[in-house]
Amino acid sequence: MPGSNKTVPSRKKDNGSIAETPISAYFGECVFGPEAMKQYLSKEALKAIDDAARFGKSIDRDMADQIALGMQQWAMERGATHYTHWFQPLRGTTAEKHDSFFEPIASDRGVERFSGKALVQQEPDASSFPSGGIRNTFEARGYTAWDPSSPAFIIEKAGCKTLCIPTIFVSYTGEALDYKAPLLKAVAFVREAATEVAQLFDSNVKDCNVSLGIEQEYFLVDAELFQQRPDLMYAGRTLLGHSPAKGQQLEDHYFGSIPNRVLAFMNDFEIEAHRLGIPLKTRHNEVAPAQYECAPQFEEVNLAVDHNSLLMDVMNAVADRHGLKVLLHEKPFKGINGSGKHNNWSIITDTGVNVLSPGATPEKNLQFLTFFINTIKAVYDHADLLRASIASAGNDHRLGANEAPPAIMSIFAGDTLSNVLEDFENKASGKRQDGKKSITIANIPEILLDNTDRNRTSPFAFTGNKFEFRAVGSSDNCAANMIALNTIVGNQLKAFRAEVDAGMKKKGAKLENVISDILRGYIKSSKSILFGGNGYSDAWVKEAKRRGLSNIKTTPHALDAFLSDSTVDLFVKNGIFTRKELEARTEIRLETYTLRLQIEGRILNEMVQNSIIPSAVNYQKKLADNVASLLNIGQPKTSVKAQLDLIAEISKHINALYENNNRMTDERAKANKLSDAHKKALAYCDKVKPLFDKIRESADALEQLVDDNEWQLPKYRELLYVG
Ligand code: ADP
Ligand code: MG
Repeated sequence: MPGSNKTVPSRKKDNGSIAETPISAYFGECVFGPEAMKQYLSKEALKAIDDAARFGKSIDRDMADQIALGMQQWAMERGATHYTHWFQPLRGTTAEKHDSFFEPIASDRGVERFSGKALVQQEPDASSFPSGGIRNTFEARGYTAWDPSSPAFIIEKAGCKTLCIPTIFVSYTGEALDYKAPLLKAVAFVREAATEVAQLFDSNVKDCNVSLGIEQEYFLVDAELFQQRPDLMYAGRTLLGHSPAKGQQLEDHYFGSIPNRVLAFMNDFEIEAHRLGIPLKTRHNEVAPAQYECAPQFEEVNLAVDHNSLLMDVMNAVADRHGLKVLLHEKPFKGINGSGKHNNWSIITDTGVNVLSPGATPEKNLQFLTFFINTIKAVYDHADLLRASIASAGNDHRLGANEAPPAIMSIFAGDTLSNVLEDFENKASGKRQDGKKSITIANIPEILLDNTDRNRTSPFAFTGNKFEFRAVGSSDNCAANMIALNTIVGNQLKAFRAEVDAGMKKKGAKLENVISDILRGYIKSSKSILFGGNGYSDAWVKEAKRRGLSNIKTTPHALDAFLSDSTVDLFVKNGIFTRKELEARTEIRLETYTLRLQIEGRILNEMVQNSIIPSAVNYQKKLADNVASLLNIGQPKTSVKAQLDLIAEISKHINALYENNNRMTDERAKANKLSDAHKKALAYCDKVKPLFDKIRESADALEQLVDDNEWQLPKYRELLYVG
């Protein structure tokens, strides 16, 4: 077996020096990627992994043993003592259970071992992961199985190095219990469908890849202040807090100069990410104070999703070293922007053509229009499913709030392409209705890539050579929406190809005409989802209603789409989910929603009782003592007017706070008695959550009245300043 004695060059710890090392010097050094595999594995092993990754071929036992040996050697030379199957169960974080390579063979002797069996499959005690009722405790077994299309890597934490093997997670009875298994199915499905359609234009195309670039928004707060806010610690967002005098009104934070402390953190986590092969490219300040963004170079979708999950972990771990906390919640602060995860998505053929990139020739442009219009139709037909795929308690605060994409699914195509679609639909030539020259397929400008207008208010925007799904929540696992998007597009492309094939059977049929006619029909039936105006405006809400587009504001309602006839048919027919799996996933999402609100309600109760009311009462007592002593020394009543007004005002808010807090507790108790997951989530949504806002009104009013010295909680103006 080939190998090398190369050790991982340890990262320079002294501040500053590492920034001078080119990233290429350490990029991917902790990854068992193509370069490392070439050194540690035989040619046959490389081929087996490639076949498994690309075509799903299985790897036999002997070969698995060989691969495991090479992987182990590579990992141990780099200091790894343990290995783990790394997977993404149906909750927010990744899961890992470490086993050592070490095996004792006598009471004073042992060896390091790693078999093909251990690489390929594990059986973690899985009874504590969400299964939505699939896995009864008496059949609690779950399996993790190696995903050879995502390379293994070494995570270094607290001086421990662990070999992580990306895996899927399925139940004993075969149902998926994670995000990765159905994502792989959906991606294989859309690849096949896209290939069949791309072959209409170029018979050399044998395969396609789905590309994804995930822009990640986040907030940073000081760790010490974070620890003084129970709401941030346990709910990930502030449940109370008055807006600071200066928020984002001046829009002076966006693309502003990055504060030193933040830059040091970014630099540090980027180094860790680069070592893990996560191709981060971009970093900048976002719109809200204390809000930032990072973005990688796009990758194959499965890898991009793994990398994003890993990145969130890395960011959290590195922030600790800098006395900072990363807030990945969709809406950590009221009154300023929330955070999303923009999913830049496209399909690229194995001949290197991005099918969503308008080309220079008419033929290329017909291919572009084919994929462009099929995507539009897919989104139109399954808009509610897409909405459901991004539904969460956190994202509900963001969608439809005045600075985030609305809960109405619509597509922004840009002026040029909207005109192209209109002309194409009307078979226009020469002049358009608006007097401008019409744009035909033959002259869609190549330059489009650079000049597409931007619309930040659209949930699903075309941006030159890709679609950008912007409504995804910042804490989400992107697989959830990628499963939906790739399945609906795959399904649409299959239907399109079937229509083309049928059309071509007619005598004298010309491919270009058949395709154009079908696409024209698609534009007609789905163009109402195209919208280029301001998605944040009330006018759009009205207009969307007129067009019959859904505007589903809350998660319990949005999730209904997962079990609609059209969704069940879509997923079951195409082999992505069984009905049982869909039911289980819906149940898990409803439960997660309820639990999040339940936790928020409890924290709010505590904060009101143990912090807000005591602070207000203490200050009120100070005022009352002051009034008494002033009157006592013979001051006139007029001299204590302000104090008396304040006392009355404080009483008013304390009473309202107390009352609403009790009402909220009662509503929670009532909701908790409901056994049906859907009804319970609805009760939390409609009865409990509105009281959060009422409580907040009084608490925030008190924050403005009460002496700073009495107020126990760090305020927005402190939290939002990271200098
Ligand atoms: P911004 O949206 O901030 O202007 P870009 O559009 O340049 O930035 O890139 C955003 C993300 O889109 C990056 O992750 C980039 O790699 C990704 N991206 C660019 N082209 C494609 C593509 N063809 N498919 C998928 N993602 C892409
Ligand atoms: Mg973008």
